[in-house]
Amino acid sequence: MAGHGPPLAYLDNAATTQKPRSVLDAVVDFYTTANSNIGRGFYELSRRATGRYEEAREVVRRFVNAAHADEIVFTRGTTDAVNLLADTFAERIVGAGDDVVVTGMEHNSNLLPWRRLCERRGARLRIVPSPAGGPVRPEDLAAVLGRRTRLVAVSHVSNVLGTVNPVRELVRVAHDRGVPVVVDGAQAVAHLPVDVREIGADFYCFSGHKVYAPMGSGVLYGRRELLADLPPYQVGGGTVKGVSHDAPVSYVPVPARLEAGTPDIGAAVGLAAALTWLDGLDREAVRAHDADLVRYAVDVLCDVDRVRVVGDPAADPAGIVSIAVDGLHPYDVGGHLDAHGIAVRSGVHCASAFLDDLGLLGTVRLSFAVYSTRGEVDRVAEALRTVRAGEW
Ligand code: PLP
Repeated sequence: MAGHGPPLAYLDNAATTQKPRSVLDAVVDFYTTANSNIGRGFYELSRRATGRYEEAREVVRRFVNAAHADEIVFTRGTTDAVNLLADTFAERIVGAGDDVVVTGMEHNSNLLPWRRLCERRGARLRIVPSPAGGPVRPEDLAAVLGRRTRLVAVSHVSNVLGTVNPVRELVRVAHDRGVPVVVDGAQAVAHLPVDVREIGADFYCFSGHKVYAPMGSGVLYGRRELLADLPPYQVGGGTVKGVSHDAPVSYVPVPARLEAGTPDIGAAVGLAAALTWLDGLDREAVRAHDADLVRYAVDVLCDVDRVRVVGDPAADPAGIVSIAVDGLHPYDVGGHLDAHGIAVRSGVHCASAFLDDLGLLGTVRLSFAVYSTRGEVDRVAEALRTVRAGEW
């Protein structure tokens, strides 16, 4: 992978990861040996494609330790999964005068679908703060939950600061009041072991492309009894048992009921290859590598004049370190790093409400993957020593 100029240091893995060869090979293999549409053909090639697609579902089930394969719905990504939930599950249970609770650190994709739902239903969106960008405290969630709270939505890991929320405890607090919980795991799956049964959430969403899989792949996990009851999100091919012009429509069971139209079969196959590849690594070693890079980056970057690490990413490292450079706009810093062959994300990271609360214009975010190195962090530190205002 190349940028312009010096060899590329790709440190924007929270936006999307690069793909291992085995993932690309799996996609090419699908398109060269099994490409056809699923579920609709009484011929060998279509059966093969259907088999690959359902095998991929089983790989995802195992990866997150769901109890049943039909608890796994393929989506286009986290945004798609959260919108699906807002328009189906939540649409039914949230009414006028009710509350939906989110945390103050949510990505727009786990904020705006709930906000729009509340506007539509005449409900109120309540925010649990995260003290100074740190983990949301269970007691703070408990304090916000009320008699009219119908749903809690919380991110597992903040995409801005890498803060890890105590999702298991947050779920317990919500469940004690009978409130279902949606977890946005977009930034968690590549870094932390995710066991949906241990976490206990009712729904858990993630994007394949952030966990070494192709774009266009994503997952909604839902507890079987909750998913089974959901109306279709979109309607169309693949969702119905049969339609006549004058009889009521009857829908097929989940997950197919929630996967209208032709899904991205190749991406699902690629997702299975990515999760198999990641599972084949020593996950403890992956965590240790993450922790080493985060702690190293905090040490090295704090030594650079005017650079400040935002939050406390080393407390419970999850592959993200956000910095601010005194007197400089994050875009200036990002442009300067780009000129040194370093790809980082700068700005508000689709979470401007959170940045407002932190009193920041934005941050410069370094985010790591299994192939990231200390040498790349050194290059960031070196480049930051020469950054000037007005350069970009
Ligand atoms: N949630 C979080 C925490 C994210 O970091 C992102 C993407 O950056 C999303 C949701 C949205 O993911 P996608 O764009 O893949 O749907």
